[in-house]
Amino acid sequence: MSSRFDEAWFAARAVAGIRELAAYDPGHDVAALRQRTDWLVELGSNENPYGPSPNARGAVLDALHLMHRYPDPRGARLKAALAGRLGVDEGQLLLGNGSHELLMQLAQVFAGPGTDVVYPRYGFAVFGLAARASGARACVAEALSEDAPMPFGHDPDALLGAITPSTALLYIANPNNPTGTWLDRETLARFVDAVPREVVLVVDEAYAEMADATDYASALPLLAAHRNLVVTRTFSKAYALAGLRCGYAVASPGLVAVMERVRESFNVNSMALAACEAALADVEHLRWTTARNAEQRIALARALAARGVATLPSQTNFLLARFGERTSAVEAALLQRHVVLRPMGGYGLPHYSRITVGTADENRRLLAALDEVNA
Ligand SMILES: *Cc1c(COP(=O)(O)O)cnc(C)c1O
Repeated sequence: MSSRFDEAWFAARAVAGIRELAAYDPGHDVAALRQRTDWLVELGSNENPYGPSPNARGAVLDALHLMHRYPDPRGARLKAALAGRLGVDEGQLLLGNGSHELLMQLAQVFAGPGTDVVYPRYGFAVFGLAARASGARACVAEALSEDAPMPFGHDPDALLGAITPSTALLYIANPNNPTGTWLDRETLARFVDAVPREVVLVVDEAYAEMADATDYASALPLLAAHRNLVVTRTFSKAYALAGLRCGYAVASPGLVAVMERVRESFNVNSMALAACEAALADVEHLRWTTARNAEQRIALARALAARGVATLPSQTNFLLARFGERTSAVEAALLQRHVVLRPMGGYGLPHYSRITVGTADENRRLLAALDEVNA
């Protein structure tokens, strides 16, 4: 029974989509853990352990003297830099306080009561959250099976099959979180072609900069021929600026203009704008951190395999690792040894943990802790 003013009481007063909604699960309380111990191997949130370009730090310091002013509400300099880099028009760009904000806003604008939102099982958790919060019906398309070449990966046929005349929005992530799997170039192109033009199709490319497989391709080149397509990216992962909160969407100018109607006017702060501009310009640093990540991802997958722990193919900075029946016991024992992974029960993958690829030293400490647990 609910009593006056408790969560259930307020939930009953919330709009329909929010009434049954569970908040985003950010994993372990890392901030609290940091206070309890002097060292922690943080492999739970897919952050970039190498940190951003040193130029980004300098840019933040320079921006500090204007912290009493509002940031540029248009983010003009960052958009100009992004437009140049991506070969798109500035009018095709939308900045967000993290791409999470943009994913939510897309549902706020294009979905809602009476519409369907389609997304894949084991797709990024924000897709379902955004769909439900908008009041739309959440339609989960089945994923590929565990023994497919891309285990738990997106199934284009299932996604297309879930589309109805009520479908307003469809989300996929390529590469996907939490599986790490991806759609190859031809499959993606065929899929984008097959989605009806009335459906706003979102391809979340949070990990695009880290993908190096020859069969991986961004959806950006498909934008010109598909005006219903939206590609989202972030500065949180490869650019290592998760703490500053900045992401962007690339789409047709008409779609961007409608999204602008609900954008909070100063949604990206001045430190983030300055840092992202500097980070974007430092191509060498991006190349360096993505190369380190790729080499550590391979080494970590091998080291886990040698210990009998299978991992899914990944084009990201994390590995979905199968610990089987022991998963929660292993996670707890690692946590006791100061190693933080992301539990996957919330995704319906209780026999797996998501492990962010750390530095060589962090991965060594993870493996040492794992060997202790297994001993
Ligand atoms: C991390 C992540 C994001 C969002 O990150 P922001 O920090 O909000 O930009 C979006 N999509 C996927 C698939 C992610 O893993």
